[in-house]
Amino acid sequence: MERAGQEILEKQKRFLFPAVITYYSEPLAVVRGKGLCLYDTEGREYLDFFGGILTVIAGHCNDKITDALVEQARTLQHTSTLFLTAPQVELAEKLAAITPGRLQKSFFTNSGTEANETAIQIARAYTGRHEVVALRHAYSGRSALAMSITGQYAWRTGGPGLPGIVHAHSAYCYRCPFEKTYPDCELVCARDMEEMIRTATSGQLAAFIAEPIQGVGGFITPPKEYFLIVAEIIRKYGGVFISDEVQTGLGRTGGKWFGIEHWGVQPDILTMAKGLANGLPAGATIAAPEIADSLKGLTISTFGGNPVSARAAKATIDLIESEGLLENARVVGQYLRERLEELQDKHLIIGEVRGMGLMQGVELVRDRKAKQPAVEEIRRLMDLAKNNGLILGKGGLYGNVIRISPALTCTRRDVDDAIRLLDRSLSQLQQA
Ligand code: PMP
Repeated sequence: MERAGQEILEKQKRFLFPAVITYYSEPLAVVRGKGLCLYDTEGREYLDFFGGILTVIAGHCNDKITDALVEQARTLQHTSTLFLTAPQVELAEKLAAITPGRLQKSFFTNSGTEANETAIQIARAYTGRHEVVALRHAYSGRSALAMSITGQYAWRTGGPGLPGIVHAHSAYCYRCPFEKTYPDCELVCARDMEEMIRTATSGQLAAFIAEPIQGVGGFITPPKEYFLIVAEIIRKYGGVFISDEVQTGLGRTGGKWFGIEHWGVQPDILTMAKGLANGLPAGATIAAPEIADSLKGLTISTFGGNPVSARAAKATIDLIESEGLLENARVVGQYLRERLEELQDKHLIIGEVRGMGLMQGVELVRDRKAKQPAVEEIRRLMDLAKNNGLILGKGGLYGNVIRISPALTCTRRDVDDAIRLLDRSLSQLQQA
């Protein structure tokens, strides 16, 4: 690493919490981004197929979004929610229009964590109950409550979680906890929900919170029946359905605005963040009116609905609409999937390719039968890909899943470039 990068690294080590993890054996210092590309301190170009963490949904420094937020930054940057602002209500109106069903009223925050906190808070206020069902392999954020909902031990730092939260099985078919195979399994993972509620809760639920595709969990994608079955059981026990769309929202899964729309279930509350403002801090919780109205008393989010973030978010949604990016994510996502499956035919280390739209995961295993997670290998692969100019994400309980999630502006040519670089990196991994 040359001097500018070295200086950043040294300061990071001295002045930041060491728990702030970075990718790569030699961390990458980034100075600039444009479209699907990132540039490091030496001016080297990287094809960004992780997009922040599925955050830069319309590409780095998109001109239209930048123009909108710069104009807003010159006009009014902050008021807090104690005052009325047009950007906040215009964003809320737009979210009500693009979210499914009766979702109508929004509460704005700064992150996915807070969006999920708010969702649980209003679900409890609405039902007058406390207990929450979450899913194994979930990731929900870093507050005490969000960590307690998270279903991966590595992200639950700080000891035992909060009471009143239980974790049901997610549909991780590649590593089915019941050792069954879809569809012969008859969705035993989903049907187990009822026994879980009857044995591990009081049967009086406030909410069920789930990601339509589990993001940090390694893009775990359930069969189409899974959410229909679990939603019915949850509602039977009085719980409201919270769809955590922090990763799957805003067109990421292709063809639809939100991931849950693929599964035919109507959520009562939906949360989003990440891609919402194309990388600026913004979180939103949108709920059916009677649920939103049930929160009484005082609440405030100082930076929530911030005019600059809200303008950027509205501009991001407008751009996704005007440039047909939902359809692009579907078509290019399908192409990406086909190309990844070609790589699977060629490289034995690829155990499974899964996902939807421009959210595709590649699970790496030491051998395809025993499915032993290729943990060390993925570390080396990430380094090799970076050195070849390709940025990928990583996830999964075992940390052996490549997460691929470029901006929705991604073209087939970008996919071809990424596949070429990934293919080369996988071949180098084998040779090493
Ligand atoms: N929910 C999901 C599904 C996420 O992936 C994340 C972040 N990885 C969060 C919530 C938390 O979001 P944030 O980091 O913005 O608090």
